[in-house]
Amino acid sequence: RIAYVNGTYQPHNNATVHIEDRGFQFADGVYEVWSVFDGKLADFEGHLSRLARSLTELRIPIPMTAQALGQVLKETIRRNRVRNGIVYLQVTRGTAPRDHAFPQDTPPSVVVTAKSLDLRKGEALAAKGAAGVTHPDIRWGRCDIKTVGLLPNALAKQAARERGAYEAILFDEMGMVTEGSSTNAWIVDENGRLRTRDTQANILRGITRAAILKLVEAEGIELDERAFSVEEAKRAREVFVTAASSFVMPIVSLDGTRIGDGKPGPIATRLREVYLEQARREAI
Ligand code: PLP
Repeated sequence: RIAYVNGTYQPHNNATVHIEDRGFQFADGVYEVWSVFDGKLADFEGHLSRLARSLTELRIPIPMTAQALGQVLKETIRRNRVRNGIVYLQVTRGTAPRDHAFPQDTPPSVVVTAKSLDLRKGEALAAKGAAGVTHPDIRWGRCDIKTVGLLPNALAKQAARERGAYEAILFDEMGMVTEGSSTNAWIVDENGRLRTRDTQANILRGITRAAILKLVEAEGIELDERAFSVEEAKRAREVFVTAASSFVMPIVSLDGTRIGDGKPGPIATRLREVYLEQARREAI
């Protein structure tokens, strides 16, 4: 495997950034993940504009033009011979002697990796439906910025894995679901209404979430962009999560409580199908 690091392509095994990189010391950096279909990037523009926003919010300089970045992503995909999989981009504030305050005139560090994924595995899980567990959301107040500071997310995902579950569904101090540890969360409530938390809340504005919202409108599905509680999720007809790497994943049990009839529901199934069809078609 090959990784892009600050302007050069290096063998993945020994590709490195400096020990005083601010990503390493302060989690002072942001990232994006694109899914790759047939060697092409899904929703290139959507992830690119969120990247620009994350960098701007943290006052990290934009390291290269959109065109140059597109070329680096493509080249990393090509060098790793990825047909289907993901490409990961990380931009940190760069390497400087350790000091909490920002360094001056330090170029950002840029790392890109790509890996192949077996789409059939994801399809098999989606056909069966995955397990979820709930977990308190203990993150900071700027979850709208896609930073590499993922320790609370990692702790939640680990708790899920230890209970044999695929995803941790996070809830706030009011018992309302925020999102998943690495996904946005949705339900089809008892009244058949599709619900997902609004982006005024402290959550990541998922690019897959945004794409699904458009499809929901096109499909004429009734939507209520409004918070739902853990209890509502457990009583829901359907629960599912969305992310660039897992598309639309039905959740068929939550903390061991069966959701609906314990099988992926019609709305999640339909949205997965139309999302994948569109993502493939529009990949560049
Ligand atoms: N929420 C969190 C916390 C995430 O980490 C992610 C993706 O990594 C998402 C939601 C889904 O975002 P996207 O659809 O842009 O991949």
